[in-house]
Amino acid sequence: MDPRSAYVHIPFCHRRCFYCDFPVVPLGDRADGATSGSVAAYLSLLHQEIATGPGGPPLATVYLGGGTPSMLSSAQVAGILEALARRFGLAPGAELSLELDPASFDEARLAGYLAAGINRVSLGGQSFDDAVLLDLGRRHRGADLREAAGWLRRAYRRGELASWSLDLIQGLPRQDAAHWDGQLSAALALEPPHLSVYDLSIEPGTVFERRLAQGNLALPPEDLAADLMDLTWARLTAAGYGHYEVSNYALPGHASRHNRVYWSGAGWWGFGMGATGAPRGRRRAHPRTRAGYAEALSASLALADAGEGMPFDERLMVGLRRREGVNMERLARQERLETPQLEDLRQRLAAYERRGLLCIEGPRWRLADPAGLALSNGVLREMLAWWEELEQELAPAP
Ligand code: SF4
Repeated sequence: MDPRSAYVHIPFCHRRCFYCDFPVVPLGDRADGATSGSVAAYLSLLHQEIATGPGGPPLATVYLGGGTPSMLSSAQVAGILEALARRFGLAPGAELSLELDPASFDEARLAGYLAAGINRVSLGGQSFDDAVLLDLGRRHRGADLREAAGWLRRAYRRGELASWSLDLIQGLPRQDAAHWDGQLSAALALEPPHLSVYDLSIEPGTVFERRLAQGNLALPPEDLAADLMDLTWARLTAAGYGHYEVSNYALPGHASRHNRVYWSGAGWWGFGMGATGAPRGRRRAHPRTRAGYAEALSASLALADAGEGMPFDERLMVGLRRREGVNMERLARQERLETPQLEDLRQRLAAYERRGLLCIEGPRWRLADPAGLALSNGVLREMLAWWEELEQELAPAP
C-alpha cells in the first residue's frame, strides 16, 4: 500500500547543540533561511526530489522536521507544501506539522506559516532553565520559550492552529526530582495540548559524549532516571494527558496522527538529507550530508532515466511520472516478463487507454497528464495491483 504520510527534513540549525547527532548543517547564529544561499541550494534539491519521486495518493499527514525548520521563511515552507500537493495532493483535513525552535521565529512568521497551511506545531523547548539550556548548547532561553508558547497558545485559542506540542528533555545533567517537577509545572502552565518528553541519550560524536568520557557530565543515576519517568507519567496523566506512545502525551483528540504512522506499519515517504522513509514496508535512510544527498539524488535520476537499478514497480512509477513515460518493452525485458503478462496488464488498463489517460505508442507507455495526479492515480494503482499479483504468482512455492 502506498504511504499517505511524508517526512521532510530541513537540516539547517543556527548551531549544533551539545547532545545532538542529527543530520544538521549549522549556519551561524544570525543566519536566515530566506537569504541564505545554502538554504536555497538545498531547497532546490528537495524540490527536485519531491517532483521526480514515485508519487502516490494524497497525503494525510506531513511533518517538516529538522534541524530548525523555523529558519525557513513562510514562503519557503509554503513552497514545500505546494510541491507535495502537486506531487501527491493533500487529503482534506491533512495534519501539516512544522517544528519550531524558540528564538528562531516571531509571531509574524508564525502567522505566515499558518497562512501557508501549517495546522500543527511542535515547539522544541527542551527546558525552562537558562543554566540547563546553556549547558545543552541551546540558543534560546526560558523567556524565549515562554514567549513562543504564548504565540502558539493564542493562535490555538483563535482556532488558527489545530494543535501544538511542547518538547522537553528529561534526565539532564545534575537534574533531580524537584527540578524536573518544576519543569513539568512550567510546561503544564502553558497548556500545550500535546507534550513530547524525551530522555537525554548520549550519542557518539557529540560534545556530551566527549564530556562523559572526560568525567565532566554528571548524568542522573539510572534509578533516578526511572523515577523521573514515573513522575512525568504521574503529573501528565493527572493533568488529563493520555500516554499514547513512549515519549508522547496528548489531551483527548490531540495525539499526533503523523507520530502514529511511524508505529502503525502504514509507511511514510522521507524527503531530504538524512531523512528516513519507509514506503511500502521498505525502510530507507537518505545520506546524512548535503554532498551525499545531492549525489544520491542525481544517481537515482540517472538510474530512473536508464530504467535500471531500482525495483521494477519503482522504475515503473518513476518512469510514468515523467512526461516522456517509460519504455515498457525494455523494462519488461529487464524484468524477464513474458508477452502474455504484458498483454494482461494492457487489458487491465484498456479503459484508461480508451479514455486517453494512458497513451501506448509502440514500446513507450506514458500518462496523458503525469502532473494531473487525480487522473493518473487510477492507472498507477491498477499497475501496482497487477504487479503485486504477478509477484505473488511468480514467487517460489514455500
Ligand atoms: S536545534 Fe535541534 S536539530 Fe538543531 S542542533 Fe539543536 S537539537 Fe540538533
